Amino acid sequence: MDLNAKLAILADAAKYDASCASSGGTRRDSVQGRGVGSNEGVGICHSYAPDGRCISLLKILLTNYCQYDCLYCVNRVSSNVPRARFAIDEVVRLTLDFYRRNCIEGLFLSSGIIRSPDYTMEQVVEVARRLREEHDFRGYIHLKTIPDAAPELLQRAGRYADRLSINIELPTEGSLLSLAPEKDVSAIKRSMARLRVHIDDAKAEARDHQRVDVVSLPNARPARAKAKSFAAAGQSTQMIVGADATDDATILATSAQLYGAYRLKRVYYSAFSPIPDASSSLPLQAPPLVREHRLYQADWLMRFYGFAADEIASPRSGGMLRLEVDPKLAWALAHPEKFPVDLDRAPRELLLRVPGLGVKAVDRLLLARRVRRLRSEDLKRLHVPVQKVLPFVVVTGHRPAKGPDAAQMLATAKPAPLQAALF
Ligand code: SF4
Repeated sequence: MDLNAKLAILADAAKYDASCASSGGTRRDSVQGRGVGSNEGVGICHSYAPDGRCISLLKILLTNYCQYDCLYCVNRVSSNVPRARFAIDEVVRLTLDFYRRNCIEGLFLSSGIIRSPDYTMEQVVEVARRLREEHDFRGYIHLKTIPDAAPELLQRAGRYADRLSINIELPTEGSLLSLAPEKDVSAIKRSMARLRVHIDDAKAEARDHQRVDVVSLPNARPARAKAKSFAAAGQSTQMIVGADATDDATILATSAQLYGAYRLKRVYYSAFSPIPDASSSLPLQAPPLVREHRLYQADWLMRFYGFAADEIASPRSGGMLRLEVDPKLAWALAHPEKFPVDLDRAPRELLLRVPGLGVKAVDRLLLARRVRRLRSEDLKRLHVPVQKVLPFVVVTGHRPAKGPDAAQMLATAKPAPLQAALF
């Protein structure tokens, strides 16, 4: 099979993985004529997830052979798809060729399990080693790691990769047991914990080096070796949504636990996409894409707005996020007793709960109110979406007559009807 045919199969097979954003790596470049490439900027090549999202990395599998039989996966052993496998040097060559032609800025490499988790992981790590050590490649590398692989292999992967990810795959142990029985949630979590320790150690070492550099004499050359980096862009994971009946409250609780216990950079939510010759245990239809979108919004609220998972969705409220409004507005409508919020006095945590106020807008308000009391005219100047915010806040010259009107809010939040396009 020629290289182009392999590329067509193995790039297509990789498109179901959504966990490959490239933020947060260590800055590297080749401006002084040394090495190949740089990892600045985040756009790389364009891969498309099944829902059409554009993801820019050379995103391929080393092979789509797999000895496991995860029911939701198009590459499972029982799937009737064409198979291919790259040699290590082929991936290295492709990455460098695409890079030099300015088509990509990095590599996202995953693999089906061939022979054994260790054997597969060794192959994946070897690609990254050759790129970094033999070709001085300075672009972004994201490696998908195999949880059952030996700890030394995970450690080696982190030396070469900017980001590592281990897919948790499904939100509960029960779902994993029924849809991916060969996968072991304890092994997944154990590997995440190991990665966390390595990442934390590398960060601590880098901080120590920085501290010593700051206190050394200005002209003194530090005699020490550079701090070793380990997956500087951290670790991430992916969870499939809608492959079973797990509700949003459980999904968000699992994410909160993963963020807390393993300090993940991101949990990616990937709406289940029906696959050919699927098992009868799987739904025939994909969940609405807006569900995935609401989960991302809820995830954002947990990471940057101080919301707990069970405040956003809980079994008491049916366990599912509302699809017609974003989760922050849904929370505000469910808690009229918290509003209106006085923009001149409320603490930051409460301001962050006002629909329409983002983190930057809140910081601008906090600065502005130090100088004088805020008026409704100030909101526009501070780039606050006035119409969205006013029903929830008190400022000089404005106090809403009553609490937010849920019916009116829902009507405003409803998207305008869309007419079908002519063909
Ligand atoms: S181990 Fe990965 S590639 Fe193999 S069947 Fe499961 S999800 Fe698919």
